[in-house]
Amino acid sequence: MGLRYTSYIDHPKSKHSKFVTYGCCHCRTHLSSSAQVMSKDYRGTTGDAYLMNKVVNIVEGDRETRCMITGCYVVCDIVCHMCKNLVGWKYLESERKDQRYKEGKYILELQTICKVH
Ligand SMILES: [Zn+2]
Repeated sequence: MGLRYTSYIDHPKSKHSKFVTYGCCHCRTHLSSSAQVMSKDYRGTTGDAYLMNKVVNIVEGDRETRCMITGCYVVCDIVCHMCKNLVGWKYLESERKDQRYKEGKYILELQTICKVH
C-alpha cells in the first residue's frame, strides 16, 4: 500500500470557540472536525451519523451498491488508517440527481468517533 501518514487538524485560534475535532474512538487519530459537518441529521448502521465534507486519515474499502431510504448509491466503507476501526462510508455515486451533492462526501458514525483535542 502507498504512503501512510497521519494528518493533524489544527484548532483555529479565537473565533471558533465551539470548534470540535473528531477522532477515531479507539486510537484517537484525527478524522474530521465540526467545520466539516454538512448535516447532523443522518442515520448510520449503528445510530446517529454526520454527513461530512472532508475526512482524513482513512482507508477506503471496496466499492459496493447500497440502497437507502433516499435511493441507491455506490459507496465504500471507510476505516481508520491506524487501527482499521470502521468509522463510516463514503458516497461515490448516486443514482438520483437530487442526491448527487453527496458524491465524494462522507458519513461518520457517531458511535465510532469521539471528540479529541
Ligand atoms: Zn483508529
